[in-house]
Amino acid sequence: MGVDMAECIFCKIISGQIPSAIVHSDDNFFVFLDINPANKGHTLVIPKKHYETFNDMPAEEVWHLFETVQKVSKAVEKGLRADGYNILISNKRPAGQEVDHIHVHVIPRYKGDEMAVRLGWNYKKYDEGEAKAVADRIKKNL
Ligand code: AMP
Ligand code: ZN
Repeated sequence: MGVDMAECIFCKIISGQIPSAIVHSDDNFFVFLDINPANKGHTLVIPKKHYETFNDMPAEEVWHLFETVQKVSKAVEKGLRADGYNILISNKRPAGQEVDHIHVHVIPRYKGDEMAVRLGWNYKKYDEGEAKAVADRIKKNL
C-alpha cells in the first residue's frame, strides 16, 4: 500500500493526465468507466480527494460519496437497461484492492449474464457459540 498521490493513477485520471470515459465530474467526485469491465458499463465512483481506503474517509464524505453512488447506480441500471447491479469496495491487497485511491465499483447485472465474479466465496461454518463471539468482537470495536 501507500503509492503516493503524485503516482496515483486515479489522481492522474481526475486531472486529465490519463484519459478516461467520463460519466460525471463535480467539485468532490469523479465517475468514469472501468477500463476492464466485468460487464459493459462497469463504473467507478471516486472522491477527488486522495484517500487510500474506505477507512481513511471522514464519515461526512462517505455520506456524500454514497449519495453519488446511489444516483450513479440508478443511472447505470436505467441507462443500460440492467436487471440489477453490484456495488463493491475492495480494501487492501488481500481483499483485491489494486489501486490505492478509494473507489466504488458499480457493476450492471443482467439475468443469466454469467459475469465472472472475482470475489466468489465458499461459505464457512461457525462452530457452536462462535457466531456470538465473532459478533461481540466486532461490536467491541464499534
Ligand atoms: P480494485 O481491484 O478494486 O483496486 O479496482 C481497480 C480497478 O481500476 C480495476 O477494475 C481496473 O480495471 C481499474 N482501472 C485501472 N486502471 C484504470 C484506468 N486507467 N482507467 C479505468 N479503470 C482503470
Ligand atoms: Zn489518488
